Amino acid sequence: MPCIEAIQGDITNQEVDAIVNAANTTLLGGGGVDGAIHRKAGSELLAECSTLGGCPTGQAKVTRGYNLPAKYVIHTVGPVWHGGTKNEESRLRECYENSLRLADEKGVKAIAFPSISTGVYRFPIEKASRIAVGTVRERLKQYPQIEKVVFVCFSEADLGIYRKVLEESRVNC
Ligand code: ADP
Repeated sequence: MPCIEAIQGDITNQEVDAIVNAANTTLLGGGGVDGAIHRKAGSELLAECSTLGGCPTGQAKVTRGYNLPAKYVIHTVGPVWHGGTKNEESRLRECYENSLRLADEKGVKAIAFPSISTGVYRFPIEKASRIAVGTVRERLKQYPQIEKVVFVCFSEADLGIYRKVLEESRVNC
């Protein structure tokens, strides 16, 4: 059984095979978790990202991790919340699905996700955390090589929400 857990922390410190970046469509860096990842990884990350030609919402692209402890960064673009009228929920689900698919292709055993879209993109976190946990739980069945998924929550309040959803879905380590 894979281990799915939520912790409070900074995703750039996670010692996993891959961390996921909540990027924007340019893949050229931004604020929030994206800014933190680029700062710690160093300028080589931006150089590699600039060769990728951007990324549509819901899709994902992979780079090396450079100065991060993680070997790979999987850049995915979450939807901006527009009240739920623009397929935001499907797009968010795709972010988790496509990130796990790329992780599997790279032979990743442990992966860390931030709370995609719930910062500047304003996706309601309760709804987002249910999509995150539900999608990961479902998709891991087809990726037995992925042993561990960590949801890295920046705030204590976010951690409380993810823990509640994990308990309700009866998933843990
Ligand atoms: P988005 O544009 O997808 O909403 P943000 O980076 O604004 O992305 O926010 C996504 C989540 O990442 C928010 O919950 C934010 O608090 C969190 N976050 C910001 N910095 C970090 C970090 N260093 N590690 C983990 N999570 C972070």
